Formats: sequence, structure tokens, C-alpha cells
Amino acid sequence: MLETVAHQRLANGWDDSLAAGMSESERLLYRSNLLGADKRITNYGGGNTSAKVIETDPLTGQPVEVLWVKGSGGDIGSMKRDGFATLYMDRLRALKGVYRGPEHEDEMVGYLPHCTFNLNPRAASIDTPLHAYVPKRHVDHVHPDAIIAIAASAQSRALTAEIFGGDIGWLESHGLFTWADDAKACYELTLATIQRATDWLAARTADVPAFGGPRHQSLAPDDRRAVAARLMPVLRGLVSGSRHKVGHFDDSDAVLEFVNAEGMEALAAQGTSCPDHFLRTKIRPLVLPFDPARGNLDEVLAGLPDRVAAYRADYAAYYDRCRRPDSPAMRDPNAVVYLVPGVGMITFAADKATARVSAEFYLNAINVMRGAAAVSCLRRRRWRAASRWSPAGRAASARPSPRATWPRAPAWCWPTSTRPPHERPRLRWPPATAPMRSAAVAST
Ligand SMILES: [Zn+2]
Repeated sequence: MLETVAHQRLANGWDDSLAAGMSESERLLYRSNLLGADKRITNYGGGNTSAKVIETDPLTGQPVEVLWVKGSGGDIGSMKRDGFATLYMDRLRALKGVYRGPEHEDEMVGYLPHCTFNLNPRAASIDTPLHAYVPKRHVDHVHPDAIIAIAASAQSRALTAEIFGGDIGWLESHGLFTWADDAKACYELTLATIQRATDWLAARTADVPAFGGPRHQSLAPDDRRAVAARLMPVLRGLVSGSRHKVGHFDDSDAVLEFVNAEGMEALAAQGTSCPDHFLRTKIRPLVLPFDPARGNLDEVLAGLPDRVAAYRADYAAYYDRCRRPDSPAMRDPNAVVYLVPGVGMITFAADKATARVSAEFYLNAINVMRGAAAVSCLRRRRWRAASRWSPAGRAASARPSPRATWPRAPAWCWPTSTRPPHERPRLRWPPATAPMRSAAVAST
């Protein structure tokens, strides 16, 4: 299973004959869609891409340098050209003149609309300055599972140096930043960097059974579906409450490897490694005590009401423990992810697309756990720290106050919006020096 799940190579989808006929902004969209199509490269909605392009100014008719950067919202895998914000580079550079210091960083995001090129209504995201100030024409920022596995490990800084030597820097943030002066070179550098981390992790795990090795055998595909088909209507009734839910079932190899593993219950109980993941999946899944060898489905079904109620009570207690005066109201306390040994993973959400995306996020979490557990113990302190923020999650209606709820009090440089602090790039405003040669990996 390791060979098929952990060692798959990233495919280079770049087609020169297609790209040759594109404008620079079209090539940026092409690159973005290619990167976002592989969820190992970035999770749904995660990451952003940019290009600095010479455009014609609509007022003067003169050539002008414009930053095309993925705007707020959306997903780089499915975005269209209207998903990019466009901003005058000279105005972005001029922002350095109004910058009043780290204690006033919040106000800087308010200046971004003043930099808009061509009346583009797409709002610029908080990552825009980072893309603007990297002195290369193309920048990718993605959240690759292999990189997050390294970033989530206790020795992420040392591991980054070991894996990449001096080719890559380390930022106190998260994910991967890569840059180049050419769109294809940037894409290929992103792939190569992730592949290097993936290969390094694969070499480390070659003789180590994933998640402690198998404990259960998978049922045959038809039997898996039959079990899921009996579980899902009952689960849906139990978790729908005042709002209807739709379920999604996933029995892919990577999911089965995890749900069948000896270490699955312990890892699942620890919670996911990254706020990006748990905002979609809740911090823990609900593991159903199905034993594929015994086929105890009736017993599992009979115990479901109590198990679901216990999960809700745990979640409510967790929320009460972590709540702050400014925390939003508690979210739906039901589990999103249900793991069934021998069968697969079931997710529930308000609609099919959200249920599928939640499953994709938990698969990201599985991939991170596979890699991180292999290299070192995960950063438990940070998990706990991150979990304090969770009940006030991004999906909640009110704005959480990351400064108030994030215990590390970091000096991130772009503290605005509802974005959790782990997502705030910590290149200083303005960057004191030119960034590293080609790329930066960053810790969660
Ligand atoms: Zn990010």
C-alpha cells in the first residue's frame, strides 16, 4: 500500500504547445489550475499564485506593471481569470511610504483597493504584499501535504535544512513559496520542491509500515458500499438536527490504509495537524467500532445514537473549555468525518460539494500524518495551541480575534481579516532583504 499511496510522483502537466499561445495572465491561470488540480499540492481553497505582467494603462495608454494575484475566495484549481485581483505595482511599492510600523499593520490592508488596476472588482487577499515584494515575476504559494508534514514536525527548521540544503529558506508561517521569472519555471520549481520533500519522506518511510501497520482487512468494494449504505441514512438522521445534511463516501486506497491501521484510533484522537484542515473536518473524526472480520454492523448501528450524542457532548465541553469572551457561538457540534475500519470514510455537510471537500481535507490530514509521524513526533504544543482557536473557527459567523486567542503572540506581518494566524505570511513589511534564492518552506 505504501508504494501506491505515499510514493506516487507528481505529474508535470505543462504543455508547451498550449502555453505558447497564451498571454501571460492566461499562463498564470493555466499554471494555477494545474497546481490546484492535485490536492497533494494544495488543499481546496488553499494557496495563491501571481504574476507581474506588463499591461496597457486604460487612462494613459502607456505600458504599466500590474500584479495579477489570486484574489480573496475561490480555489486555484477551479478559478477562472476573474478570480485574480489586479493591482498597479508602482502603487503597491508606494505603500512602503505610508507604512507606520508593525503596530499599525492592520491598516495596510485598507490601502490595497487604492492600488486596483482597471477597476477590477475582485478583492485582493492579505497575501498580496508578499507576492508583490518578492522580486521575481512569478510566485506560487501552496499548501502541499509533504511540506506541511515537515512543517508540522518538531524539528521543521532542521529538517528543511537537511532536505533542501541551502536551496530553500524557512519562514515562520506555513506552506511553500516558490518563485521564478518564467511561468513554466515557477511551476516546475514548485513541483520539484514538493517532490523532493515527498521523496525524502518516502525514503524515510520505506521500511516503516504506515500508521503502525494494518490491523483490519478491507471488505470487498461491494461490501464496503453495502455497509456505507446502511450506516449513512442512520447517521444522517442523527446529525441533521435542524438542518438537513448530505453525505459523501470515500473508500480510496489512502483512506483504507488509514482506517485499517493499527495506529488509526490514536492518530484520529490526536486531531488534525493544521487549522486549514480542522476548520473543514473538525479537530477529530468519529471512529465507528466496526470490525470487518466480525461484521458487527447491527451492533454498531444500535450504538450509533449514544456514540453521536457523546461526540456532541465532548465537542460542547471542548468549546466551553476554550471559549473566550469574544468567541463566536458554538458551531454545529456533530462530527463531520466518520471513519469505518474495513469500509472507508463518510463525511456529512450541508451539501454534497462541501461534504466532498471535507473528505478531501481529511485526506490531506491523513497524508500529513503519514509523513510527519514518520519523521518525528508532531508538534503537540502547536496542535494544542491551534485547537484553542478552533471553536471560533473561520466558518463561524462572527470574526474571531486571532491576536486574542492565539497563544503564541507571534509577530505576523499581516494581521487582518478572519484568517487564522498560521496563515499569515511573516515576511516583514516591507521585506528587509530579498528573499531566498528560489523558495521558502514554512512551519505551521
Ligand atoms: Zn497559505
